[in-house]
Amino acid sequence: MRWISRLKKDLGEEKVRDDYEHRSLYSRDSSDAPAVVPEVVIHPEGPEDVVKALRILNESGIPTTPRGSGTSLSGGAVPREGGVVIVFDRMNRIKEIDADNLLAVVEPGVITSRLHEAVEGENLFYPPDPASLDTCTLGGNVAENAGGPRALKYGTTKHYVLELEVVTAGGERMRVGKRTKKWVVGYDLPSLFTGSEGTLGVITEISLRLLPKPPKRITLLASFPDEVSASRTVSEMVRRGLLPSALELVDHKCLQAVGDRIAPFLPKGTGSFLLVEYDGFGPEFEEQVSLTYDISQKNGVIDLLGAEDESTRRRLWEARRRVLPSLESLGYKIRHEDVVVPRSRIPELLSYTEEVERKTGLKIASFGHAGDGNIHVNVLYEEGREGDVERAVNLVVEKVWELGGTCAGEHGIGTLKKELMRRELPPFVYGILKGLKRYFDPKGILNPHVMFV
Ligand SMILES: Cc1cc2nc3c(=O)[nH]c(=O)nc-3n(C[C@H](O)[C@H](O)[C@H](O)COP(=O)(O)OP(=O)(O)OC[C@H]3O[C@@H](n4cnc5c(N)ncnc54)[C@H](O)[C@@H]3O)c2cc1C
Repeated sequence: MRWISRLKKDLGEEKVRDDYEHRSLYSRDSSDAPAVVPEVVIHPEGPEDVVKALRILNESGIPTTPRGSGTSLSGGAVPREGGVVIVFDRMNRIKEIDADNLLAVVEPGVITSRLHEAVEGENLFYPPDPASLDTCTLGGNVAENAGGPRALKYGTTKHYVLELEVVTAGGERMRVGKRTKKWVVGYDLPSLFTGSEGTLGVITEISLRLLPKPPKRITLLASFPDEVSASRTVSEMVRRGLLPSALELVDHKCLQAVGDRIAPFLPKGTGSFLLVEYDGFGPEFEEQVSLTYDISQKNGVIDLLGAEDESTRRRLWEARRRVLPSLESLGYKIRHEDVVVPRSRIPELLSYTEEVERKTGLKIASFGHAGDGNIHVNVLYEEGREGDVERAVNLVVEKVWELGGTCAGEHGIGTLKKELMRRELPPFVYGILKGLKRYFDPKGILNPHVMFV
């Protein structure tokens, strides 16, 4: 095809791959969206390559999917309409860490934990910490406005994006935002592109705000007989003025399914656990831990483990980070829902998932960022049960709406939640979003499968 020859000529053959074996590596992401093999995979080495590629692809109207590491849980990195995948594995440089001005400049293919290590080495701190941080990229994090356990105290990726370099569908290379601490010149375009899921432009450089590294951290793992007592503890902690840097919950279904694999050390009778982390200068820890203990005890805690040393803290965190990979290893397909409810309504949501299990005959295991009310409701299913999965998802999300919540907290809309997004947004607002998409990408080549029905 002519557009493939032009890509090879303009970018160089080694950056444009069309052999099946290579293309098939980019057919899936971490969601249960069906695989689609793209026609071509491009590995740009700089923004100039992205500009050249998009000019050709836009002219020929080829669907184009930017891609980080493919850890998306909502199907956004699957090239549903074939076409081209642009992978950022060769644009993976940390270009600058500026301790005086508390910022870092990175290419989109930098793995998130690499930035954490690099800045912490200089006594700085980049808070967003999706549980996939050892594999996902900062480009993917910006595109999804990724959160993570520390969002409760520190916010999500959008709170750290200062300036972006973006290439539009037509190949226009532009900078939005400013690397300064403050900036109000016009509309907040960095925020518009953050969370736009690759539908408005391709991100080729990111300037991120950093913080000074908190000198101390303490991690607590509190075991409860059930999630109702754990959720009550969460609400009361927040009500009493505690602001942990993380406040994570794992429900009894997860523990029944994978408890032995994630935390063999949990005491007998544990039906749910909370992982709580405080960070700061240290002297305040004693008071925070003691208040956490009092509140937990009032709500029936069975045991509370605490650690300040790195290796024990890491072991406690593993209990939380391994939940999803362990559920995945059970051999089911998983629909990853990512709902948010007002924190005080978490017990209602979790008990409703049991009713959905009874109605659909599917297993549901939930865990997540309880401090934010952001619960990952995982529907486990076997091939052929897709109809029941859709029913289960609709039941759960309709309950979430009734409780005053939203269908998506941090994993994006992708392909799997498009209909839910259309139902959740008022038609006028939905129309504005579609208008923005048309403005930036008139031919609709960028992730045409994502977000809009
Ligand atoms: C085990 C596990 C745990 C997870 N935990 C969390 C969590 O705690 N919090 C959370 O928020 N998410 C979590 N996720 C979801 C996922 O890791 C995040 O959405 C992450 O931001 C995706 O990054 P990625 O590099 O893998 O992007 P991809 O999956 O490759 O892409 C995601 C989306 O971003 C677009 N995109 C990628 N790069 C660019 C670019 N340069 N320009 C424009 N668009 C681009 C893609 O087209 C796609 O739509 C988890 C996933 C897994 C598998």
